[in-house]
Amino acid sequence: MNNRVHQGHFARKRFGQNFLHDDYIIESIVAAIQPKNGQALVEIGPGLAALTLPVARQVDHLTVIEIDRDLAARLATHPKLGDKLTIIQQDAMTINFDELAKQAGQPLRIFGNLPYNISTPLMFHLFSYYDAIADMHFMLQKEVVNRLVAAPNSKAYGRLSVMAQYYCQIIPVLEVPPTAFKPAPKVDSAVVRLAPHAMIPNPVKDIKVLGHITTQAFNQRRKTIRNSLGQLFTAEQFDSLNIDANLRAENLSVAQYCALANAYIPA
Ligand code: SAM
Repeated sequence: MNNRVHQGHFARKRFGQNFLHDDYIIESIVAAIQPKNGQALVEIGPGLAALTLPVARQVDHLTVIEIDRDLAARLATHPKLGDKLTIIQQDAMTINFDELAKQAGQPLRIFGNLPYNISTPLMFHLFSYYDAIADMHFMLQKEVVNRLVAAPNSKAYGRLSVMAQYYCQIIPVLEVPPTAFKPAPKVDSAVVRLAPHAMIPNPVKDIKVLGHITTQAFNQRRKTIRNSLGQLFTAEQFDSLNIDANLRAENLSVAQYCALANAYIPA
């Protein structure tokens, strides 16, 4: 059978469709999520319901966001899901998660086997709603999970690590081989749990400034920050923050990036 056809659906590459079909992996993901009745569960990209079905077995209601019209239609008439689902046929990147949380009357528990082509921008979109979110469980490329959890002084540590750790506590849950999906992706995958901090440990005045500084620093990660951030900060500013200007982007902690963001004075 064509490797792109699963349960009679032709996988659409543009929507990053790789469907889970390994029961052990599916059970492990649902066990990690621990869905409970009464929680505001939201799945991004339910697809053919590989995760939706076992979650729906444990709860009375969940909301799903699916961009693919055909898949959304299949879910709407799914015999086992019935009226348990609220289906939003929309691009998750355009969803206002504050609104969803307001409607639910509680912070959201979001999960999904994310389309890899948009997983990073989608996470940034979600981070901007961090106080409407209780936690998130996502299947991602393993390399992305490595970057999310990376500590300073490692190759994987970069802009994504700083921005994600600014908002969330991040815990890798499970590694998943390509054979667990149909069609099989070319890369290894992993499931990660992201829980927004109850209190942001190092709050910045303007998140855009933190974004700008980390872009500047990591785009030139081999340079010292005296060079890469020299347009933004004086030697005295580095000194007053006790940050050695001879360090490189990967040597600075999240707290140090936040301190820089708060010391930044726009020209
Ligand atoms: N959850 C299913 C599974 O595990 O087998 C499908 C996972 S598949 C990797 C990604 C799913 O996200 C697909 O159903 C795809 O149509 C959907 N999708 C892709 N882009 C999306 C977007 N921007 N917003 C919402 N859903 C999207």
